[in-house]
Amino acid sequence: MERIHSLYVHIPFCTWVCKYCDFTAYPVLQGMIPPYVDALAAEIAQVPQRYPIGPLRTVFIGGGTPSLLTPEQLARLLETIRQRIGIATAAEITIEANPSNITSAYAAAWRKAGVTRLSIGVQSLLPAALRFLERLHSGGEALQAIRVARQAGFDNIGCDLLYGIPGVSTAEWLESLDGVLAEQPAHVSAYELTVEQGTRLAQEVRSGAVVMPDNEEQLGQYWAADRRLADEGFVHYEISNWSRPGFESRHNLTYWEYRPYLGCGVGAHSLLRHADSRSERFWNVKGVKAYIDAVKEGTNPVADGETLSAARAAGEAAMVGVRLLQGTRAVDPFPVERDHLVAAGLLAPAGEGVCLTTRGVELANQVGAAFLR
Ligand code: SF4
Repeated sequence: MERIHSLYVHIPFCTWVCKYCDFTAYPVLQGMIPPYVDALAAEIAQVPQRYPIGPLRTVFIGGGTPSLLTPEQLARLLETIRQRIGIATAAEITIEANPSNITSAYAAAWRKAGVTRLSIGVQSLLPAALRFLERLHSGGEALQAIRVARQAGFDNIGCDLLYGIPGVSTAEWLESLDGVLAEQPAHVSAYELTVEQGTRLAQEVRSGAVVMPDNEEQLGQYWAADRRLADEGFVHYEISNWSRPGFESRHNLTYWEYRPYLGCGVGAHSLLRHADSRSERFWNVKGVKAYIDAVKEGTNPVADGETLSAARAAGEAAMVGVRLLQGTRAVDPFPVERDHLVAAGLLAPAGEGVCLTTRGVELANQVGAAFLR
């Protein structure tokens, strides 16, 4: 089995569950975090007995809202990871943070605990958009959070933004982007606001209370941002991600390069790669109590999983690999499909491999699906 060098740790709590969110996120309840952190530490400690793992080159603490942990809780988790699994020198250690939680004291404590990268959920700077999204911070707080993080010594700061928000024009979207770019982040992720089944946003769209922008408008906002980011020297390295050269998210590259990773915590997913090219994907139980109980009993908190044949694994590797816009060779096992997509103008030669064309980016899901048999 291929050795794992990337670890994802899920913190499922949020102060408030936003109406568009379909992540594993629960409103934080008094007293829930300490037993959850105990369980996480216990799961992490057991990981090396279960899988070939470490030293870790990337650790990503995501959520939910990981910045709801106290600095002591976060430091404890990182120390457990360091002692039980091992973290390589110069590893990338990311924490996702909500602007409202980024104080000088927290940022300094995160640095001290070894965090090297902050991923800040800015989403927008517009008051109306933040209200619509039910985000609890203001645009001013988000900008201040970036400054505070930089003062604490973070040079690797990523900002997450959402486009395609109802009522937000392209000019207003670019204003938000410009405001963020003025703070010189190293990385920007821009995601389309999508309507996920089961969310309150989905209900509002169904009832007609909310009308989403059409596809053309969404694409217009996406490409306008791409041009602005290119002008600022950012490299568009993945469909939704731009970075200054050398500041790509190394953890997320693990997913797009289809390398193995382990996920700890409620609902976290893992991918193992076998020597015979088969893959194994599995995921932890959902529900904080069920997760804590499983770990307390000393059992592996895995809920279910599947083994993927070598052909299916190669197809998935190609499907996620084409998202990398500097070129990928992940499609090499599929010459017929690759040539067909090149002829259709959806893929083009890039580097030693191929990458999505402009039209290909817009139809990325269909392009990716062509490799799944
Ligand atoms: S803060 Fe993020 S993870 Fe939490 S509910 Fe809102 S969108 Fe979901």
